Amino acid sequence: MVQQAKYFSRVSWWLQEARANIYPRRLSKEDIQILDRSFPYFKNLTPSHREEFKQKLSRILSVKEFVGRGGIEEVTSEMEILIGATIVMVTFGWKRIRLPHFSKILIYPNAYYSSITKSYHRGEVNPKYGIIVVSWSCFLDGMKDSHDGVNLGIHEIAHALKLENQIYYNGESEFFNPEAWNAYQQWVSPEMVKIAAGNGSFLRESASLNEHEFFAVVLENFFERPKSFFEYHPALYGALVQLLRQDPRVWMS
Ligand SMILES: [Zn+2]
Repeated sequence: MVQQAKYFSRVSWWLQEARANIYPRRLSKEDIQILDRSFPYFKNLTPSHREEFKQKLSRILSVKEFVGRGGIEEVTSEMEILIGATIVMVTFGWKRIRLPHFSKILIYPNAYYSSITKSYHRGEVNPKYGIIVVSWSCFLDGMKDSHDGVNLGIHEIAHALKLENQIYYNGESEFFNPEAWNAYQQWVSPEMVKIAAGNGSFLRESASLNEHEFFAVVLENFFERPKSFFEYHPALYGALVQLLRQDPRVWMS
């Protein structure tokens, strides 16, 4: 069974690769303008890293399917580019990582009602169906202030990244360096206790819900306000630099 699952996942990985080679989604001039206008991380990269970013984005857009839901009839280039760019940013420390298990991105116009949880959601990640879901208005809200440490796109992609690291048979798993992961982990509980006790943590309250939420909120802050994060907790920030193989302080203007 395991052998069979391995075989099928390799085949689907290969098919995804082949499709991306045959029908690559090349970036247009307008696409680059969207990045320059609305994606500060990209704007601040060095010329060679910009090239790398564009290549990775083009590859990600070629292998992922973007689907409008709840009244979104047409997925715009802006939606594809900004969501795709967020995936590139979070995974930029690895050349090849692009979260293949999450091959479909569903986009709702606003917060949407989930019949499973009987509540409204702003976004979610569903490993069973391999989907990432975002509400477009909440996604844009998260991008409006790029230094407040609140960003729905980063949050959901952080969940996907952590899951992908544990999903086998698709060519991407266990890419977290174990030493970096251990270094990160030792700060999780103490920080969660601090948040729950209301002792003035840098991280917002929802980070103390569980270790998955902690990771997602921590990444929002890592990318949106790296300098003040470093000042608050150099060891935790340093562990994240090792884990994600990049230091966003370098790109910050
Ligand atoms: Zn979450």
